[in-house]
Amino acid sequence: MNVGIVGAGVLGLSAAKVLQEQGHSVTIFESRPDVGGQVVTFEVGGNRIECFYHHIFTNDTVCIRYIEEMGLGADLRWIESKSAILRKGRIFPFVTPLDLVKYSAVPIASRVRLGLAALWLRRQHDWKKYEGVTARKWMERAVGKAGFDGVWGPLLRGKFADEADNVGMVWLWGKVYLRFASRKGAGGLKEQLGYLSGSFNRYIEKLGEHVRAEGGVIHLNTLVEEVVVEEGSVRGIRAGGELHAFDQVLMTTPNIITRKIAPALPAAYAAVLDKVKYQWATCLVLALDRPVSDTYWLSVADDLAFVACIEHTNFMPPEEYGGNHIVYLSNYIPPGHPVLAMSADEVFESYLSGIKKINPLFDPSWLRQKWLFKDPGGQPVITTNYAKQIPEMRTGVGGLYLANTTQVYPEDRGQNYSLRLGEQVAGLMVGDMADVEPIPSPAARA
Ligand SMILES: Cc1cc2nc3c(=O)[nH]c(=O)nc-3n(C[C@H](O)[C@H](O)[C@H](O)COP(=O)(O)OP(=O)(O)OC[C@H]3O[C@@H](n4cnc5c(N)ncnc54)[C@H](O)[C@@H]3O)c2cc1C
Repeated sequence: MNVGIVGAGVLGLSAAKVLQEQGHSVTIFESRPDVGGQVVTFEVGGNRIECFYHHIFTNDTVCIRYIEEMGLGADLRWIESKSAILRKGRIFPFVTPLDLVKYSAVPIASRVRLGLAALWLRRQHDWKKYEGVTARKWMERAVGKAGFDGVWGPLLRGKFADEADNVGMVWLWGKVYLRFASRKGAGGLKEQLGYLSGSFNRYIEKLGEHVRAEGGVIHLNTLVEEVVVEEGSVRGIRAGGELHAFDQVLMTTPNIITRKIAPALPAAYAAVLDKVKYQWATCLVLALDRPVSDTYWLSVADDLAFVACIEHTNFMPPEEYGGNHIVYLSNYIPPGHPVLAMSADEVFESYLSGIKKINPLFDPSWLRQKWLFKDPGGQPVITTNYAKQIPEMRTGVGGLYLANTTQVYPEDRGQNYSLRLGEQVAGLMVGDMADVEPIPSPAARA
């Protein structure tokens, strides 16, 4: 059968690979000039790096499998993460349980409650019991207001802004449960993070090459204008004004884009897609002549204009980037936020006082280059009872499927889970193929 796929991110590519393994032919349409989607990269100092910071955890086993299958296992580096939290103008290391004991930004009783809550959550395998409660409500009850305001409140606000109070506890459970599960260093006390030397895009490009080598076609720089539906069944994909006929079509686009390119979705299904809100992801990336701090991941729990400072070169050596020190200043913001209309220079200006809170000596003369990256589908907002809101992969239109980050649950979105979703949706499509009438090839129709 002939399958068309919208999007050459990791999900579209893993789905393509599985479909090919089952003997089907695939054609992928990608609006960007390269494969990789949100794992998009740019060049700094002769090496490629992600526009949006990326690392993986030791339990991201699907992603590790793909990296190994693409022959890059030897380049996957595991490094102890240096995490910290900025609170009340001070940087507190946040790596081991002892760091929590020393976290004097909250009263000692709150620290004990924070530690106990984390220990409790890491032992809870059944996330379903947290479905009906918001993260804020559960956490405030567990750790008190001071504990919540000192750690979890800022983290939730950072990721979800005005939507923070609506985020379901399952999302936060996933953060704690899965992060603990990935702790292997120092007898399970320290976390190890993985990074693919030369950027994660390397394994994704190889995956794209593999799909092509197996006979797949990947049209880059090709925006899908419409997924064409006739009499309740998918007919094909319109791109560049041309209709490409397919037996089945998989969309891997965020809901907001899906709604534009697939106008014929059943109203009930479209309503499910519209219910999920997204936060834009924005990263101001700085190339500096020296480090800002000695932390890799700094969560900001003070009121700054950005929510995290990720100093990539406290993870990978600056020598890999021509001696540049690379810093991501990350923000998740709702549609219409002023940062979306600003240039990199303007964002840098507005972040400057915040950078000086991390390092009072920071001077703009340290800056060699800067870039601003934005993605409208950065983070779906995972609310209470989300299991009931997850869009089905079958859209209700015969032969038309959707798989995207809104279906990652109870985990938080990540490459690992998009790769897994790609495999799952491909399995579903293959299973359904028996019921689909093949479209005659153009030659047969002539
Ligand atoms: C700020 C940020 C940080 C992240 N950090 C991490 C991390 O540390 N570790 C981790 O594992 N994951 C991380 N992720 C998540 C990870 O990158 C994503 O989960 C994953 O890449 C999503 O892949 P996907 O294929 O599902 O979607 P996407 O990558 O969004 O792919 C969809 C593709 O569809 C294309 N497309 C859209 N519209 C059209 C159209 N009309 N026509 C043709 N093509 C179209 C897009 O260009 C895109 O390539 C991060 C994401 C963000 C935003």
